[in-house]
Amino acid sequence: MSILPPILVASSNKKKLAELERRLVHLGVQLVVPQAVGGIPDTIEDAPTFEGNAAKKAREAATAKGMWALADDSGLEVDALQGAPGVLSARFAGRHGDDAANNALLLERLSSVPDSARSARFVCVLALARPDGSLALSVRGEARGRIAHAARGTRDFGYDPLFVFDEPGHPQTGRGFAELEPNDKDEVSHRGRALRELARLLPEAIRSV
Ligand code: IMP
Repeated sequence: MSILPPILVASSNKKKLAELERRLVHLGVQLVVPQAVGGIPDTIEDAPTFEGNAAKKAREAATAKGMWALADDSGLEVDALQGAPGVLSARFAGRHGDDAANNALLLERLSSVPDSARSARFVCVLALARPDGSLALSVRGEARGRIAHAARGTRDFGYDPLFVFDEPGHPQTGRGFAELEPNDKDEVSHRGRALRELARLLPEAIRSV
């Protein structure tokens, strides 16, 4: 039986919730969606870092409902663009979540950048806040790669079609994220890595209140 308190997930994204459940189920933790507690206030994501935005979302949700709360923030950092699109990844081209426009703009900005300078990384930060709004835990996962010259693969979400994973020593090395089966992507992805770290540290973070 679970001895962990329920955790409010500060996101209404069903895919994210399902993934969190899959990763954390073995801990016996009960995840609560915002709709189950009457909704949570919208957080303005104006921090300059993934850590700042994830913490802000988690802390505001925790304080609003007096519960443990978990939030994430993620995006793509391209070295040749000094880390852009970064925390603005979802709205790089203007409209939130317009993947086609974001990818087109990324290709345009990198049009004169050679292969050797197209390095990038995906980043995912997960933050856990206590019911009083203080930050209990923040973990970061990264996946390093480079930006292709054209889309590859069909499993497209966000910038996946343009991202080629290139950390040495993995079966996924040299493959585009949109070319990988979901499980193969999870193994090396920023989100998969952050979630595994979260699962490792979460029980202790909650018990040591
Ligand atoms: P958010 O954390 O849900 O706000 O996502 C930020 C944005 O980063 C998304 O809209 C995507 O454009 C991008 N992003 C984050 N993770 C991934 C990924 O695994 N693949 C592709 N794009 C991603």
